[in-house]
Amino acid sequence: MNDRPLIGITCRTALHQASQKLRQTETVTRTYVESVERAGGLALLLPNTSPDAAEAYLDLVSGLVLTGGDDVAPRFYGEEPHPAIDLVDDRRDAFEIALLRAAHARRMPLLAICRGVQILNVAFGGDLYQDLPSQTGNTLGHAQRRLDDGPWHELNVEPPSLLARLSGPAPLHVNSFHHQACRRAGRGLVPTARAVRDGSIEALEDPSLPFWLGVQWHPELNAASGEPRSLALFSGLLSAARERGSAASK
Ligand code: MN
Repeated sequence: MNDRPLIGITCRTALHQASQKLRQTETVTRTYVESVERAGGLALLLPNTSPDAAEAYLDLVSGLVLTGGDDVAPRFYGEEPHPAIDLVDDRRDAFEIALLRAAHARRMPLLAICRGVQILNVAFGGDLYQDLPSQTGNTLGHAQRRLDDGPWHELNVEPPSLLARLSGPAPLHVNSFHHQACRRAGRGLVPTARAVRDGSIEALEDPSLPFWLGVQWHPELNAASGEPRSLALFSGLLSAARERGSAASK
C-alpha cells in the first residue's frame, strides 16, 4: 500500500453552450491537482453529481479539496439574487453541500478554497455577501489587479488557529480573486483571518475537528510551484489525511 493519500477534488461544470448538453464538461484548474501531488497526495476528481452519491464518493478518499468557481446560489441561504450576482450552478451547490455535511460527520480533513469557503459557510447555515463591492463599498480591495498570482492584500490572522500554525507568524499577504465573501459565520465555524483593509472574512475553521479549513484566497496558484506558505496548507491537509488513514487501519 502506498503512502500517498487519495484526495477528492471538486470540479466546476463548464457550460460552454448552456443549451447543449454535449458541451458540458467537468473541469478543474490544474494547479489544484499539482498542489495535492506536490504535497504527497494523489487526486481523485469528483464530478458534480447527485447529492445521494456524496457518501459513496467519500468512501474512496482520505481528504477533500473544495475548489473555486462560480457564485453560490443565494437561495441556499434564503436570499433573492442581488443584481450584481454572477453565474450560479444549483446542481454543484447541492452536491458540495451534501459532500461537506457528510465529510464533517466523518471528521475528514478539508481544505476549501475561494468559492469553497463560501459554500462551506452556507452548508452550515452561514451566509454571504453576494457582491462585496456594491454591498460594502470596497470596490477594488478583493479584485486582484496584477499580472501574476502573487499577494494582493494583507490579512490579520488569529494566533491560536490552524491557519496560524500552518503559515507561521510573519504577516500574511494573499492573492484575491473574489467578489463574494462570507458574512455571518455558520455553526461551529470560527473566522481565523480577516482582510486588514475591510475586515471581511478570509478564513474559517472548525476547531473541533483535526483539519477543517476554508480560505478565501487561492493558495493552489503558488503551492503548485512550491511557495512554502501556500504549500503548507496542502502539506497540512496531507498530514491530516495520513493520520486519519493510519488511525482507521488500527
Ligand atoms: Mn480577498
